[in-house]
Amino acid sequence: MAVTIYYEEDCNPEVIRGKKIAVIGYGSQGHAHALNLKDSGCDVRVGLREGSASIEAAEEAGLRVVDMDTAAEEADLIMVLVPDELQPEVYEAHIKPHLKAGDTLAFAHGFNIHYGYIVPPEDVNVIMCAPKGPGHIVRRQYTEGSGVPDLICVQQDATGDAWDIALSYAWGVGGARSGVIKATFKEETEEDLFGEQAVLCGGLVELVKAGFETLVEAGYPPELAYFECYHEMKMIVDLMYESGIHFMNYSISNTAEYGEYYAGPKVINEQSREAMREILARIQDGSFAREFVEDCKNGHAWLVEQREALSDHEIEKTGEKIRGMFSWASD
Ligand code: NAD
Ligand code: MG
Ligand code: MG
Repeated sequence: MAVTIYYEEDCNPEVIRGKKIAVIGYGSQGHAHALNLKDSGCDVRVGLREGSASIEAAEEAGLRVVDMDTAAEEADLIMVLVPDELQPEVYEAHIKPHLKAGDTLAFAHGFNIHYGYIVPPEDVNVIMCAPKGPGHIVRRQYTEGSGVPDLICVQQDATGDAWDIALSYAWGVGGARSGVIKATFKEETEEDLFGEQAVLCGGLVELVKAGFETLVEAGYPPELAYFECYHEMKMIVDLMYESGIHFMNYSISNTAEYGEYYAGPKVINEQSREAMREILARIQDGSFAREFVEDCKNGHAWLVEQREALSDHEIEKTGEKIRGMFSWASD
């Protein structure tokens, strides 16, 4: 199955420039979308809670800040960029009452639409523009003249031009400078959750910790274990990112490459792959979403417990010490 990729020449800037846009939330993604759209010549207002810590920052950046109801009321395109677990209540209280037929409701992740925690009326467009990177990189790359690739999706096309709107939005945030991939809400949601759980965040952190612990348990100094299993990770990943696994393998020694083929499949083995399939199945059948939402309702009890346990881990303390000793840490 080939994916469809769009570039700037496929987007019509006038579509998004002709809309009144509300960006709800001014966190990682919110600040990047709002500022990039403004710099792309769009009419942007940021909707924030009364007393929000972000009001000052948004105003200082030259954005117009109003309360969430006013933003939703004024706008004909509303991009929802508050944390996923808060979106249903923000939507019910501050967005839904102001939706008019033909409006566009937009997201940067499909969680609430895909799992049915938000059910918009049938006469509005429901689109997604999901940058494949953290908000601070979305903003930095835009100011440097490039852009983080986006996934764009349309769940409901009430006006018949929802794809044009999604493409034009992706142009506005800078994603079309590097490429915009067409997808569905189901694909984006399930793949995003799987990637962050099994590989990028869950898999990576656990791999690094397991390697570090193995060396430290065997009596090696934690500082050296940190260098081997944590610090060097970025350099290896940079090589893979820039030019592929072959190029990374070309840059490392033959000893390291031999060790890669020999040891990799022993660590990430059939049992690990079976665990990945189970993780994917729990994402697909909605059990992960239910569990996450349950914990959010419980004041993030489990999440906070894990966060605290990690901050007490020796690898974090070692890293802090090492980063304080080397010049690269202040870059
Ligand atoms: P965030 O936690 O950085 O920011 C959330 C913002 O929402 C806050 O800064 C604040 O302005 C507002 N907010 C917080 N609590 C609120 C409340 N009770 N009521 C109203 N507003 C409140 O969130 P984020 O990481 O930017 O995520 C926003 C969306 O973007 C999510 O759907 C997420 O999945 C998606 N996304 C995030 C990233 C990322 O790298 N962070 C990448 C792609 C997509
Ligand atoms: Mg995600
Ligand atoms: Mg080495």
